[in-house]
Order: sequence, then structure tokens, then C-alpha cells
Amino acid sequence: MSDLPSYEELLKKGLKKVPKEAEAKERFEIPKAQILRAGQKTIITNFTEIASHLRREQNHVLKFLLKELATSGELSGPRLTVIGSFSEDAVNSKIDKYAKAYVFCTECKKPDTKLVKEGEYMIMKCEACGARHPVPKV
Ligand SMILES: [Zn+2]
Repeated sequence: MSDLPSYEELLKKGLKKVPKEAEAKERFEIPKAQILRAGQKTIITNFTEIASHLRREQNHVLKFLLKELATSGELSGPRLTVIGSFSEDAVNSKIDKYAKAYVFCTECKKPDTKLVKEGEYMIMKCEACGARHPVPKV
């Protein structure tokens, strides 16, 4: 026998990987970041498309992304240029993280939410189930 995992093991792993929100995500496919790398810079060419698909303000997504990647960047047109060399996977995983934190309802897992400011707090309101909960500041 080789050391390769068996089909059964792979299947188990695959099943474990399916998160609860998978159903909601199926009908809400976040566009994958398209990356161009130029020297010490990474350009996300479809940044505004991603933000508008998430139905969030570009600046909000931008701030989150820059903080998560611990870098600085600049928006010009539909493109976001960030300092540093980042893989597509790295960028996409941050965008997924953003969606989990600021787009998908924690109760019903649907993306039909909006962010509203209430005093000092940012509240995520779900238009599907009516849930409201505060989200962390970016
Ligand atoms: Zn909900």
C-alpha cells in the first residue's frame, strides 16, 4: 500500500470542508480576484466588481483588505494596486473573510444584508430574516 490517502479518506475530508454557509453561497458567487503582479506590487484588476457584487462600499472593502494584508494600496478606476506580492489565493481568502464578517447573515447565512451605522456601532441588518448584530470596525 502506498501512503496516498484512500478514496474514503479524501471523501471524508471533502465533506468536512463544506461549511454551513455553502448553501447560501451557491446562489451568491463572489467573483474571484483577478491578479496581476508587477514587481513589488499586486494589482487586483476587478476590485470594484467584487465590492459591488458584495454590495458594500469600495472604501470599506478596501480598508479591510489593506488591514488584513498589512499593506497599503491605491484605487484607480476598477483596479486596486497594493504594495507587496500576494497570490490569488491569499487575496481571495481575505475577500471570503470579509464576506463572512460583513456580508453573510450570522443567523440565516444569506447575503441579503446591509450595514448601517448606529451611533458608535456598525450594525449588520439582514433583510431576509430580520437579524441584527454589531460587526467589528474595520
Ligand atoms: Zn438573516
